[in-house]
Amino acid sequence: MAVVEPRRSILEPTHEVRNQPPPLVHFNVFEQDRPLVEALEREGGGWAADRARAVGQISGGEALEWGRQANENPPVLRTHDRYGNRIDEVEYHPAYHKLMEVSVSHGLHSLPWTEERPGAHVARAAMFMVMGQAEGGHECPISMTYSAVPALRSTPELADEWVPRLTSTSYDPRLVPAADKAGSLFGMAMTEKQGGSDVRANTSVARPLNGGGAGAEYELTGHKWFCSAPMCDAFLVLAQADGGLSCFLLPRVLPDGARNTFRIQRLKDKLGNRSNASSEIEFAGAWTRMVGEPGRGVPTIIEMVNHTRLDCVLGSTAGMRAGVAQATHHTAHRSAFGKILAEQPLMQNVLADLCIESEAATVTAMRLARAYDSSGDEREVMFRRLATAVSKYWICKRAVVHAGEALECFGGAGFVEESGMPRLYREAPLNSIWEGSGNVICLDVLRGMARTPQATEVLMDEIEQGAAVERRLRTYLEGIQAELSDFEGIEARARRIVERLAIALQASLLVRYGDPAVADAFCVSRLESDWGRAFGTLPGGIDFQAIIERHTPHL
Ligand SMILES: Cc1cc2nc3c(=O)[nH]c(=O)nc-3n(C[C@H](O)[C@H](O)[C@H](O)COP(=O)(O)OP(=O)(O)OC[C@H]3O[C@@H](n4cnc5c(N)ncnc54)[C@H](O)[C@@H]3O)c2cc1C
Repeated sequence: MAVVEPRRSILEPTHEVRNQPPPLVHFNVFEQDRPLVEALEREGGGWAADRARAVGQISGGEALEWGRQANENPPVLRTHDRYGNRIDEVEYHPAYHKLMEVSVSHGLHSLPWTEERPGAHVARAAMFMVMGQAEGGHECPISMTYSAVPALRSTPELADEWVPRLTSTSYDPRLVPAADKAGSLFGMAMTEKQGGSDVRANTSVARPLNGGGAGAEYELTGHKWFCSAPMCDAFLVLAQADGGLSCFLLPRVLPDGARNTFRIQRLKDKLGNRSNASSEIEFAGAWTRMVGEPGRGVPTIIEMVNHTRLDCVLGSTAGMRAGVAQATHHTAHRSAFGKILAEQPLMQNVLADLCIESEAATVTAMRLARAYDSSGDEREVMFRRLATAVSKYWICKRAVVHAGEALECFGGAGFVEESGMPRLYREAPLNSIWEGSGNVICLDVLRGMARTPQATEVLMDEIEQGAAVERRLRTYLEGIQAELSDFEGIEARARRIVERLAIALQASLLVRYGDPAVADAFCVSRLESDWGRAFGTLPGGIDFQAIIERHTPHL
């Protein structure tokens, strides 16, 4: 008689799940970021620590799941209603609206304009970075709304009408006349098919309806090749007019309730940033009003662009901090070859190097935000003229390789969507592209140095303050000065120069304000070049453990 083997229950476990880290959830993103907590206080935003803590709790809590949902369910374009009428609406997942609600209600789009007290830009910068770690895509309209205010102020009658709407902390996503809404959001549309960096090549045309000039009505015809967050209530748009390229305010809904002729042709299928809709649009005689003077489109909108460039710095810094938090957490709980990864010498070198890059970005981003707080101080205005572009170039560039290395700390798990690391990786290149791609930014720095020598002096003074206490920075600075005094082929050397300026600025800030072990490791690797071409190539003699401990979040 055959022996019948007992069948194994399908519920019977085949193995025990071991050596898997606990998820990094329910932690305070702000509180656990020591360089950020210190910088908020140092740069004058300490009064907002409780607010940052409140945002940090949400960002490390329920917002993580909203971030996942908003990216896995990207926005959908509805061009027409069921009867064939054009509606040009974009439908977002409810999780996106929740993210927007949190950011708007905490004033991430408006705080410095409603609380004009010292440290307001710094406070907002900290909260923007904290929330960006949960989800970066929704911060695009948050940033554009914050940044539109200084540009609108060039035309007081438009500012009087719109700034109170933009600074409201009520999130109201309805597509109805702005006057009927609890709060409004702003976008910008500059880039056209034939040119994004070179906006002077714009072909969209605006025709005056009753005389023209600042604040007057115009009818706009043309297109834009990239227009993010097209459900915003209004946009700053560049178009050709009598007098040259000019800036216009284009509302999506007209004051009488009819929809403006803002046609959304399609949404871009993007590498990352998937929660955020980026569209191609056409204007068929759209109703607009001129912002600033005729022919002054670029100087008018540059006020907005400077602030969105600051936010690119903040966004990339946030991405690096998210990578550090994830990588230090994962490796603190995962073993290989019988030992915790974060305790193994070579992994410690990688982690410490990632932490150093993240801390350098944090001190720089927060110092830069302080310069935006001091608009009445000519030196600070000069500082931000160059430091914004210098920092944007370098920090946004570093974020890309940083994300790849942070991802690798997870091994295979980092390549899997559930870890959140692929989203971080896909998001990373974006800040370097928009608001001036790498080369354009570097050329802008050269132009700024040539046109505004005082701005160069102020930036050099800031670096000097660190060089006064750090010999290695002094030597590095001499190298920069030699590079700058040679004009032969300087355009081709623009990246080289800007990279060095950025590293010198970061070193100056770290030696004065950063953790001493971090500052020393930064100087030996980035200034003395005792370093390789990948992260994890720091020389011996550095206290890796102390650096990693400083940056590891504790649940
Ligand atoms: C996801 C996403 C969302 C966006 N949202 C918006 C939006 O809401 N509104 C908006 O107006 N735009 C938006 N943009 C467009 C973005 O600002 C442009 O793509 C960017 O400014 C570059 O312009 P371009 O694509 O035309 O590239 P180009 O201008 O063709 O540049 C291509 C490359 O050439 C380089 N380059 C340009 N000039 C020089 C030079 N003189 N010397 C050397 N190199 C040079 C650039 O650095 C770049 O690397 C968005 C882009 C993306 C990816």
